[in-house]
Amino acid sequence: MPTTDPRRRVPRTDAVLADPLLADLQSTVGRDRVREAVREGQEQVRRGDLPPELLVTSVADELRRRSRHTEVLNATGVVLHTNLGRAQLAPAAVEALVASAGCTDVELDLATGVRARRGRRTLDALARAVPAAGGALVVNNGAAALSLVLTSLAQGREVLVSRGEMVEIGDGFRLPDLIESTGVRLREVGTTNRTRLADYADAVTERTAAILKVHPSNFRVEGFTSEATVAELAGLSRERELPLVVDIGSGLPRPDPVLPGEPDAATTLAAGATLVTCSGDKLLGGPQAGIVLGAADVVERVRRHPLQRAFRADKLTLAALAATLGSATNPTHEAVHASSDVLRDRAEGLGRRLGAEVVPSVGRVGGGSAPGLDLPGWAVALPELYAERLRLGSPAVVARVEGGRTLLDVRCLPQARLDDVVEAVLAVREQLAEPEGASGA
Ligand SMILES: *Cc1c(COP(=O)(O)O)cnc(C)c1O
Repeated sequence: MPTTDPRRRVPRTDAVLADPLLADLQSTVGRDRVREAVREGQEQVRRGDLPPELLVTSVADELRRRSRHTEVLNATGVVLHTNLGRAQLAPAAVEALVASAGCTDVELDLATGVRARRGRRTLDALARAVPAAGGALVVNNGAAALSLVLTSLAQGREVLVSRGEMVEIGDGFRLPDLIESTGVRLREVGTTNRTRLADYADAVTERTAAILKVHPSNFRVEGFTSEATVAELAGLSRERELPLVVDIGSGLPRPDPVLPGEPDAATTLAAGATLVTCSGDKLLGGPQAGIVLGAADVVERVRRHPLQRAFRADKLTLAALAATLGSATNPTHEAVHASSDVLRDRAEGLGRRLGAEVVPSVGRVGGGSAPGLDLPGWAVALPELYAERLRLGSPAVVARVEGGRTLLDVRCLPQARLDDVVEAVLAVREQLAEPEGASGA
């Protein structure tokens, strides 16, 4: 039956290229790339893997997929999901990113026309957010902040750290390995569950360059435990003239009553830490960044280290971070603080539109922050097989599979995107209603 042979029905290249959708793409990605993708699509049609009438949209989708990440709507209930890129940016931070895409005054004083301190508005915003910090520095991420600080202050010498704080943060990233890779020798003190001030004091020698305290942010040790407080270590730090560096992890500028176990920069510095290091894209709710705050002269010493140039933040990060610090709220703050009532209303609205059951759902801060803290909320329950199809939709919706069901936890879903979630679920429902193999025929 030659007329049904798919090879006879492969659309011609010139006809495909003339389609307005692809003509448009040629002006952005270029004619050669579109032609190449069309050839690949035609090959799929020839093999019978793609219906000819879907060639144009398939080529357009493929070209878009190649040049950007897929947008994901976070229905996991985990606020800072590392695999989903952690914090969602505040609208002001998104605007700042776009406004900074071209040339900016990131390192120029427009009044005098001469070079100025890089990212000074971001540094000013940090100083306003954490007045106890005399100096501030922004680098690529929390790990870079800690590496740079230790390299600058202790290379070739020793740093004292509690055995209870030798943590693995994620994806095989181990703090002891990171520290030793900077050429700093780790001197472990105390035991896994108990470390006292005296353990640190006894370990100080002429080789000691600094005392490090790390917030073990992704786990909790319970039972017979004790640790030396920042205030106690600050006493030792002053007495022995050793800088006290505290890696607080999550980057809360001030205490947050909803997160009682989470250290913050202001309290840690007030308790006597010389420097604090943290991430920008955890509880601070900003872009990926590493922040160093503390004594102005010590921050300056870190800034002057040659490796600082290798770790420094780019203009987009600096702009988004300044805007985050200047915003009264951000999606991370809202997701962590959303009341159960508000979440229930949101879930019930969604449940009504989908004709689906609304169930309680426990969310998490995630991203290695506030381990063990439950965030009680609400979700819409769907059959388990929805999860995979929702993940493959556009936008992708990533839900949580629990107890044989797909839960759409509404905590991290922006109100403005609920229509998109409804559309995604209805599209899956439609797919599932079609008989097997009927799609696109
Ligand atoms: C998350 C975390 C880091 C690493 O920060 P990144 O920004 O992911 O590089 C380091 N230390 C602690 C305590 C953390 O929680």
